Amino acid sequence: RLTVDDLIAWLVRFDDEIVEQAGFLTELDSAIGDADHGTNMARGTAAVRVRLTETPSGDAGAVLKSVGMALVSTVGGASGSLYGTLFLEMAKSVGTASELDTAVFADAFRAGVAGVVARGRAEPGDKTMIDALQPSVEALSAAASDGVPLAESLQSAAAAAAAGRDATIPLVARKGRASYLGDRSADHLDPGATSAAILVQALADSHA
Ligand code: ADP
Ligand code: MG
Ligand code: MG
Repeated sequence: RLTVDDLIAWLVRFDDEIVEQAGFLTELDSAIGDADHGTNMARGTAAVRVRLTETPSGDAGAVLKSVGMALVSTVGGASGSLYGTLFLEMAKSVGTASELDTAVFADAFRAGVAGVVARGRAEPGDKTMIDALQPSVEALSAAASDGVPLAESLQSAAAAAAAGRDATIPLVARKGRASYLGDRSADHLDPGATSAAILVQALADSHA
């Protein structure tokens, strides 16, 4: 089960990882975008961390909602509203629960990613964060319905996100700034798929 404290530990770890990889994320975005993805994300995860560690937390839905609102108001760029939507939709899905079992978390993650798809209209293969998030959702749901323990389920979700991230390299972008480059967007890792894989890996690692 994921408790509220586990959710907070996840997002604190996400901030640590984003801080560490901000330079890399910005470098990826400099190749096919506008060289700000690392700074955008680091601004957002720092705000999330402050919000989660300095104010009383409440239930899982309240925590996820405050994460979403912090991301929307600080990240900026295309990714800000998309990551914000991910958490706001997860918040709606879990409601006022204080502990989430694997199946409930998997459903919430699915609802979150569906919200990102609805907002950004990217499909798998468009070279976006969806290429990491969608396979990760599928892996987590499969593990949950097979009764795989949580820690192991999260590791499968993280592995699927990493594979999806790597699979963006040859793709031609069809959404976001990278799509302006047309065929020249190929042969580059997508920045948002990379940060999304970091997000899921941070969850798996914080729960190992
Ligand atoms: P911006 O492009 O506005 O500078 P960022 O650099 O922070 O924003 O984020 C870029 C990332 O956002 C891309 O690498 C891609 O993964 C993701 N992205 C952009 N547009 C979409 C979309 N429509 N749907 C899903 N993800 C998207
Ligand atoms: Mg950018
Ligand atoms: Mg930008």
